[in-house]
Amino acid sequence: MPIRILPSGLIDQIAAGEVVERPASVVKELVENALDAGARRIEADVEAGGLRLIRVRDDGSGIPAAELPLAIQRHATSKIASLDDLETVGTLGFRGEALPSIASVARLRITSRTADAPAGCEIGVDGGEAGEPRAAAHPVGTTVEVRDLFYNVPARRRFVRSEATEFGHIAGTVERLALAAPRVAFRLRHNGREILDLPAAVDEAAVAARVARIVGAEFVARALKVEQQVGPLRLSGWLGLPTAARSLTDLLFCFVNGRAVRDRLLAGAVRLGYRDVLYQGRHPVYVLHLALDARLVDVNAHPAKTEVRFRDPRAVHDAVFRAVERALAATRPDAAVPAAARLDLPAAGHASPAPGPGRVAAELELWRTASAAALPAATPGAAAVAEPPVLAQPLGQALAQLHGLYILAQNAGGLIVVDMHAAHERVLYEALKAQYATATPAAQWLLEPLVVPLPEHEIDILLEAQADLEKVGFELERLAPGELVLRRVPAVLASGEIAPLLAQLARDLAGGHGTHHLEGAAHRVLGTLACRAAIHAHRRLTLPEMDTLLRQMEQTERASQCNHGRPTWTRVSLAELDQLFLRGR
Ligand code: ADP
Ligand code: MG
Repeated sequence: MPIRILPSGLIDQIAAGEVVERPASVVKELVENALDAGARRIEADVEAGGLRLIRVRDDGSGIPAAELPLAIQRHATSKIASLDDLETVGTLGFRGEALPSIASVARLRITSRTADAPAGCEIGVDGGEAGEPRAAAHPVGTTVEVRDLFYNVPARRRFVRSEATEFGHIAGTVERLALAAPRVAFRLRHNGREILDLPAAVDEAAVAARVARIVGAEFVARALKVEQQVGPLRLSGWLGLPTAARSLTDLLFCFVNGRAVRDRLLAGAVRLGYRDVLYQGRHPVYVLHLALDARLVDVNAHPAKTEVRFRDPRAVHDAVFRAVERALAATRPDAAVPAAARLDLPAAGHASPAPGPGRVAAELELWRTASAAALPAATPGAAAVAEPPVLAQPLGQALAQLHGLYILAQNAGGLIVVDMHAAHERVLYEALKAQYATATPAAQWLLEPLVVPLPEHEIDILLEAQADLEKVGFELERLAPGELVLRRVPAVLASGEIAPLLAQLARDLAGGHGTHHLEGAAHRVLGTLACRAAIHAHRRLTLPEMDTLLRQMEQTERASQCNHGRPTWTRVSLAELDQLFLRGR
């Protein structure tokens, strides 16, 4: 084939491949344009997960009628005019690519009016062909309508997931933008149903309310407000307390100069700041805004502009890391406790020097539960009593809970340490799988149906998984907009708090998160359910409860590994302990 210049429509479609990955990318570009136009209120209407329609309406500056045909041309922008401008760019857009890209893969219509124009004007693009601009009624501001996304790019359509999943991404996108611009009012509707309605935040309390609405009220209640200036860098936002950490990374929100970014450098720096206070496999929850001179950061690193490059990455990394560390340290009265959350047993034969009595208390804060009297070792004359038969069980008899994370037990051979969440998660997962495989899962009818208020799109997600949920014993249906009703729950989960569990499950599934399983979607639902229903860290357990879990583990297949393949328990034999203490030598 000879070298030739590609037709311009094809160039646009190639560019669109980078800018418009899925419906949520269109929403992002349109809302960013509205924010760049100084909108105070932005309304997004979406139909069929964004595939049928995305309409974003704003009350910003509007586009002059004469410029409308230019707005949809490639490399046409009102935001920069020179390389200098690019270096100091303060707007979210600047590449002049979004509208032409969208127009090349969908049917587009823009209606707009500026404050000094007597009337509005609209222009349409269909099949890559722009129509003539013509007069149209419109208040000051802009409405952009995108219909039939990817209608002419079948390859792209194949990558699009279900309506509910795509809408989940759209909702996530709008939430991130709404966190970035709290002073702007946002409304989002899907298939005519209202999903989000966020008034403009006028003060700090209202900003916190918006964060609570999006990230969760419990996050704000368990977060530290940070506000720090480190050299040229201003850092502000909320850092979730270590106890609010999650096993998923879905609640990290990072903004650089008002732009939502996914940046490994920043995420790494924040993590490092948490390093002493988080245990393995947990992720902090945070909303962090970084502000710095535009010249110190290059936002032109990627067409979708979700990545940035810092001129001095090391300095930014260190500043963020130290700021986070400082903020967390300031509120920790007992810094030793979280750091010691891991039980570090020195390798046999390499015993470290015996710690002083003060440190023993701090490091091994081993508390005994209410029923501690049942402990043989603590009962005078216990030695005379015959060994309880339970000691012959593989996982033995529970003694205590360590730091709300581990169960300590003794069996005939020595000490057993169990990771209680991981173990319980495995037990539940195997139990759910077993129920799933039977024709009549053990379930409990609720005396009174439980009404669970949920955002509509999350109800959609749960109903998508309805067949799987019914197979494990749930019975649920949509009662009214925003309300799910639950009539039956699986017997294995019946004792838990079901409403928050379902809400969490919906959120995990909507975000494309949750526990992934090779065995497919059903197991993902079950795995995520097990993870969410499992006893979480810091739940106090009584000794009988701990014993119950140990017995369940003994009867559960694969109970020695958690659902992510990590061990759920370990043992230290009496012989190893003897060696540690140089006994019997
Ligand atoms: P960019 O945002 O990178 O400039 P776009 O293709 O997204 O490129 O938009 C092209 C131009 O159209 C913008 O520079 C802006 O002048 C105008 N525009 C787009 N959307 C809006 C809007 N909602 N309000 C005002 N002007 C807009
Ligand atoms: Mg733009």
